Amino acid sequence: MTTSDLTISSSAHGDMHIDLSAIASNYAVLCGELEGSTTCGSCVKADAYGLGQTPVSRTLALAGCQDFFVAYAEGGIALRRILPDVRIHVFSGLAGGSVDDFSRNDLTPVLNCLDDIKAWSSHCRDNDFTPPADIHIDTGMCRLGMPFEELAFLEENSAFLDDLNIDLVMSHLACADTPEHPMNREQLELFTNVRRVLPMGRASLANSSGVFLGKEYHFDLVRPGAALYGINPVPHRESPVSQVIRLQGKILQVRSVDTPQTVGYGASHQVAGPGRIATVGAGYADGYLRFLSGCSTARIGNISVPVVGQVSMDMITLDITDVPEAISKPGMFVDLIGPHHDVDAVASDSGTIGYEILAALGSRYNRIYHNGGLHT
Ligand SMILES: *Cc1c(COP(=O)(O)O)cnc(C)c1O
Repeated sequence: MTTSDLTISSSAHGDMHIDLSAIASNYAVLCGELEGSTTCGSCVKADAYGLGQTPVSRTLALAGCQDFFVAYAEGGIALRRILPDVRIHVFSGLAGGSVDDFSRNDLTPVLNCLDDIKAWSSHCRDNDFTPPADIHIDTGMCRLGMPFEELAFLEENSAFLDDLNIDLVMSHLACADTPEHPMNREQLELFTNVRRVLPMGRASLANSSGVFLGKEYHFDLVRPGAALYGINPVPHRESPVSQVIRLQGKILQVRSVDTPQTVGYGASHQVAGPGRIATVGAGYADGYLRFLSGCSTARIGNISVPVVGQVSMDMITLDITDVPEAISKPGMFVDLIGPHHDVDAVASDSGTIGYEILAALGSRYNRIYHNGGLHT
């Protein structure tokens, strides 16, 4: 037996095709919305929304991105190994990593409270060194960031900031994907006031959808994530960005059914007449959400096939009665997410958002990257 006999030549869990040139062109679309000196950063948190932080970030850096955002220091440290020259901002700040993690890896903490400011200032004083830090002021998310009382404190005690080298002053929009929502304008006004108190460094407010709210939301730097990965940032309009992923599951078994019977857990689906059921190797453990049971579709060739019965942990069942046998045999692939039925469509089938679909996909799929380095 040779070593190659011991390796798995193709993944039983299916293939996730990721078009890196689509990510680069989506980055260009976002840059195209910006004017003047405004630049475009990239959010690559949660393993670049499930698509793989390393290849995605390399692509974005090649496309010109200089500012990367991750959730925790851990992601920043991994990113620093492959991109020595970009700025890496860590949203959870000092709660998401130690002061040493930040300074050793040249990561920029987003300081989210006065205690963070104190800790970072004393680190800077002790080392006689002022690496950049960001300040996040909460204008309506009530999640991370300083509340207005703390901003008022900073206004009255400006010496508190003396030891800091502030790169970004940022806030985050709660309702940017709903342009008519009054919160957008309220947060914009609050953030404009924040800038009067904290005029130093660059200002950043907009996520993907915020980019499409108009140029007064752009400030110095925008921070899209979702739109880079093919999620429509303007759900009420035709998407300005291209699809990035195609998710294919493998047919494990095909059952011919000629008597009325039920499919899957809970016997929730009844096969009425003669037909064929394909079992495909992707389930909720692979991020194919259980909420998709009985309410989504897959695609074989150009035929749409319903997901029938409950989604299992590692498998789903499709009614492939209408599909020619020649293209629906065990070992063949079906599209679970693809051009016919994109991330946003699958999300709407299960009552969630494209973000959750992408982030849930996980690493069991064989990730196949296309067009890396081809974009110029
Ligand atoms: C995730 C995140 C973003 C990016 O949001 P998208 O909607 O994916 O563009 C920007 N800013 C903050 C603070 C975030 O947490």
